[in-house]
Amino acid sequence: MGRFHRHPDGTVHSHEHDHDHDHEHDHEHEHRDVGDHSGYTETGTDRVVVLEKILGENDRIADSNRADLSGHGITTVNLMSSPGAGKTTLLARTIPALEGRARIGILEGDIATSLDADALTGLGAAVSLVNTDAGFGGECHLDAIMVRAGLARLPLDELDLLIIENVGNLVCPAEFDVGQDARAMVYAITEGEEKPLKYPVMFRTAEVVVVNKMDLLPHLDFDMGLFRENLARINPDATVIELSARTGEGLEPWVEWLAGVAGIGDSGSVAGEPGQ
Ligand code: MG
Ligand code: ZN
Repeated sequence: MGRFHRHPDGTVHSHEHDHDHDHEHDHEHEHRDVGDHSGYTETGTDRVVVLEKILGENDRIADSNRADLSGHGITTVNLMSSPGAGKTTLLARTIPALEGRARIGILEGDIATSLDADALTGLGAAVSLVNTDAGFGGECHLDAIMVRAGLARLPLDELDLLIIENVGNLVCPAEFDVGQDARAMVYAITEGEEKPLKYPVMFRTAEVVVVNKMDLLPHLDFDMGLFRENLARINPDATVIELSARTGEGLEPWVEWLAGVAGIGDSGSVAGEPGQ
């Protein structure tokens, strides 16, 4: 479950070969990597129907997750990025910054290790680790079933805000609804200016793009104006927040964005429905 990918045009394909087959052999064939459409144009109608059913199943479980979480009064944010962009470092700053305002749960998606979950333990948040290689085939994203498994290990009655740290990947995490109320992205300026154009689905689905590693700006050729222009072509409505998770500089607008979606803005009033 979870190996199926939906494209913006509604078609789906599978990348189960990524994990289940010996790559030595796969090199003989046209290998269907993420984003490689070879092969799926030949996919039979029956197969598409089956895959659509599986994605429909994901969406149904995502809706159950969403209903259960909102039933507990929890706002859920799906946090996505490429590997190394700084999601974990940002969360390590974010948890203490919201202390006393929101009781936070972290659902940590990682392919194999507990490194990030360990880094976030002891900061005041409840942490649930989901290793995608443990019974899920080493997936490069979280799907609704994996998140459901992780939710079972969180004290939902005691939480206000759940942040799901998705697996580092700019492609499929954007394609799987896991039951979040809002999607957020971390983007490091070391990734260059062009990624919004190359990974439009991810950038289009994000309500907020945290532009991280701003402390490195003097050392890079990164053109912020060009990045913002590229992002605006894909997602003109995205909120952009520049910060450095490493130094903590610029953290406040991000913390307030989270407080806003969680309905704990500093006005103390209950905010409206969080975005979808
Ligand atoms: Mg991480
Ligand atoms: Zn994937």
